Amino acid sequence: MDLMVNLNATLPSAKAAATGPEFVFGKARWMVLLAAAGLACLVASCDRAPEGERIETLRGQSMGTEWSMVLVEPDALTRIRAEVQLLLRNHEQRYSTWIHSSELSRLNRTPAQTAFAASPQLMRSLYRSGLMLDATQGAFDPTCAPLVRAWGFGPGAGPVAGFDAPDEARIDHLRRHSTWDNLDINSHAGTITRLHEAVEIDLSALAKGEGVDLLADWLVEQGQRSFLIEIGGDLRAGGGAPGRQSWPVGIEHPDGSGEMLAAVALRNQALATSGTYIQQLPAGGNGEVRPSHIIDPRTGYPVGHETISVSVVADTCAEADAWATALLVIGAEDGLALASSHNLPAMFVLRDQLESQRYLVLATPMFETLTDL
Ligand code: ADP
Ligand code: MG
Repeated sequence: MDLMVNLNATLPSAKAAATGPEFVFGKARWMVLLAAAGLACLVASCDRAPEGERIETLRGQSMGTEWSMVLVEPDALTRIRAEVQLLLRNHEQRYSTWIHSSELSRLNRTPAQTAFAASPQLMRSLYRSGLMLDATQGAFDPTCAPLVRAWGFGPGAGPVAGFDAPDEARIDHLRRHSTWDNLDINSHAGTITRLHEAVEIDLSALAKGEGVDLLADWLVEQGQRSFLIEIGGDLRAGGGAPGRQSWPVGIEHPDGSGEMLAAVALRNQALATSGTYIQQLPAGGNGEVRPSHIIDPRTGYPVGHETISVSVVADTCAEADAWATALLVIGAEDGLALASSHNLPAMFVLRDQLESQRYLVLATPMFETLTDL
């Protein structure tokens, strides 16, 4: 690995900044703004690129976070905004675990042994999840939903007030019963049946990515060839920025300093980041476990190893999103080899211990090929 940086950075703040400094890439005059999830994304710093193309940026809120969309020479901007908002509302109404009437919430409430007729979109997400579960030997598993809640993260993954760490018996019960094997997914009939009342599904680990893909596919259908779409720090680039073959995108340092850790050039590719540092509760009563919203389904405990953040590039944002979460669970030690075996550009940030100011960055060779801007 050539990209191995010992950062020894200072830690001014544990919180990810909502906005941050500007980085200018050469003459192209692009500016990087830091997104709430801790990932930097590009937005246009001027209304007109040097080549004369008109740049427009749309922004809004969805899925408990913010989205932005950079468009080059768009027409009918008002129509695009309205359609994007509608697509995202429908998406949220399908995948949200905090909207009571969402399709996923209704599935999670359907009595055990009763078949639930699912939409083709939900069936596809579950199919993708099943592939990820196999590829990661269970490190990626949307049926860890009750464990996420037991460890203090309620619907929407926001920290629960007055959190008490679950005991061994509770962890064991959820780990044995809320499992992928306790789901009967019938792709021919288009139904999903929960085989045990403890099983619940949470697709948050890839839903943001699927939302980005949904918007990207729609924009391409509309004839837009050059765009950058971001939801909560996960993004997808269409074509290249004006006058460029690709979109240069910065990844923020997880220490909250606003420093840029790496920059990659994306062309018709997506980038997603997952980090345990993003949402973490104070240590529970025994002081040993510091819950994060990412759970290792193989142990039932929150991820607490040295790897604190993983960024992944893939063709679709759903893949990048799912892999970023999975590789964060697995950690750099085994994750680098797994990512390389799948030809995935992936970057891992490690911290030697809690509250440490020493960071280490490791990346797969495929990631390094993208850092040449
Ligand atoms: P974020 O949504 O914060 O950007 P992720 O994409 O990594 O981060 O998704 C985290 C969410 O995925 C958690 O809030 C939880 O609902 C769910 N989750 C946690 N651990 C796992 C896991 N091992 N496999 C699949 N989903 C998980
Ligand atoms: Mg994810």
